[in-house]
Amino acid sequence: MENDIAIGVDLGGTNIRAAVVGGEGKILRKLKASSAGDPIRALAGMVAELRGQYPGVRGVGLGTAGLVDRRGLRVIHSPNIPALTGRSFRSLNLGLPLVVENDANAAALGERWMGAGREFQDFVLFTLGTGIGGGIVQGGRLLGVAAEVGHMVIERDGERCSCGNNGCLEQYAAARAIVQWLVREVEGGRESLLLETMGGRLHGATARDVAGAAREGDPLAREALRRAGRALGVGIANMVNLLAPEAVILTGGLVGAWDIYVEEAVREASRRSMPGLFEGLRILPSALGADDAGVLGAAALVLENA
Ligand SMILES: [Zn+2]
Repeated sequence: MENDIAIGVDLGGTNIRAAVVGGEGKILRKLKASSAGDPIRALAGMVAELRGQYPGVRGVGLGTAGLVDRRGLRVIHSPNIPALTGRSFRSLNLGLPLVVENDANAAALGERWMGAGREFQDFVLFTLGTGIGGGIVQGGRLLGVAAEVGHMVIERDGERCSCGNNGCLEQYAAARAIVQWLVREVEGGRESLLLETMGGRLHGATARDVAGAAREGDPLAREALRRAGRALGVGIANMVNLLAPEAVILTGGLVGAWDIYVEEAVREASRRSMPGLFEGLRILPSALGADDAGVLGAAALVLENA
């Protein structure tokens, strides 16, 4: 990949990030914009700007939220950016080769290339945010599969999910689920420090607020994180039993609550993994920031496939 450059784009629910990336994994230039409005038009503008500055780019790699049709360069379904559902990137007419991938898959490839996945041939990445995404690397290569780890069912008759199923992992272990559970408990009469810190407006709370209250010793916030951590542990154990990876890499805002949420997940995963599969397994945080993993992995799609 030496002396090669490509554009990597990360199209997420909140932001579009685009970067020019060198073959040695160096980010040469980075742009960021909001994904509100027409994200496809916005990203076309960003790509045109970067291409103007770096005419030698070989192609564009695009990681996008949602289920993707790689051959059709299309988003099949995107619960977090409904405007993308059914949209094709073919009409962009970039004049450059384009590779499309799911955003969490691209992040896994970014970690494999330049981050925490560098030392592993086989790992599973969980992106822990509002929802939960995932990517699977096997034999050093990104698996071109859906890897929708957030939508593995962990409760057969559980909570309704945005995907239409019931009992999906992200309904228990993601940021939105953590806040919703805590709000429900408070509405049911339980007490939390958060009610005071949020001035009574609990619905505006984020998982970061919950983690802050937990750190101050709020029992309900701690319970919310532990409960979510246990659910994540079930999801991790399922992946361990299925794939026997060398490592599980965790990324996203919730990794900040490592001491409660992730430690609980590790305990639960160790209880539920088959004997022999958990020993030697590494569970570790990503080494790249959310700003970089996606664009690096997206660029790698172009640079590696060349
Ligand atoms: Zn689901």
